[in-house]
Amino acid sequence: MYMRKKELALEVIERLKKEYPDASCSLEYDQAWKLLVSVRLAAQCTDARVNVVVEKLYGKYPDVASLAAASVEDIEKIVHPCGLGNSKARDISACMKMLQEVYGGKVPDDFDELLKLPGVGRKSANLIMGDVFGKPAIVTDTHCIRLCNRIGLVDDIKEPKKVEMALWKIIPPEEGSDFCHRLVWHGREVCMARTNPYCDKCCLQDICKQHGVKSASKKQ
Ligand code: SF4
Repeated sequence: MYMRKKELALEVIERLKKEYPDASCSLEYDQAWKLLVSVRLAAQCTDARVNVVVEKLYGKYPDVASLAAASVEDIEKIVHPCGLGNSKARDISACMKMLQEVYGGKVPDDFDELLKLPGVGRKSANLIMGDVFGKPAIVTDTHCIRLCNRIGLVDDIKEPKKVEMALWKIIPPEEGSDFCHRLVWHGREVCMARTNPYCDKCCLQDICKQHGVKSASKKQ
């Protein structure tokens, strides 16, 4: 079945809504600055591990001011299990200092301001905009990029910013944040990176580009 990208996007959004009614982020947080910390720690680490490590970090440093005043060495000791301890600790320290000194301890609700924070890239800034402030957001993480290429929402685009820009053209802005969370769930449970995707139990089977190509080549 051939569908234009906008039509395809709407159909995928609707089906994933039914499949994953809860579109929440799997990083746990109760304050905006904590999501900033968690999202930095989540690079090349599982969200489950991040959720455990931050408990210890916040036990010792319960607010922006105390974390901003902490030494990088001490932050590193605690966040070490998430990998890349030194660079993550440096970013978290610099980010908290800037939040404290420039923004009065509050996370700014402006995309460009968020990008100025150390260790915050487009992915993290979009996540904060969508999850914390309920604004339009497209979070192009590894699951989003892989699935959008497989499904056919983008064509052979791997660079996160290019995928984001392509998706802005076809995804209704208010749907973007939840849609990206659902892609993460689908990418973990069905359309995995390392093993063969479970196309036979996928709700997108009949509209997915990759599945269509695989089925056609099997028939030949
Ligand atoms: S049909 Fe297969 S390749 Fe396509 S989204 Fe589903 S699991 Fe992934």
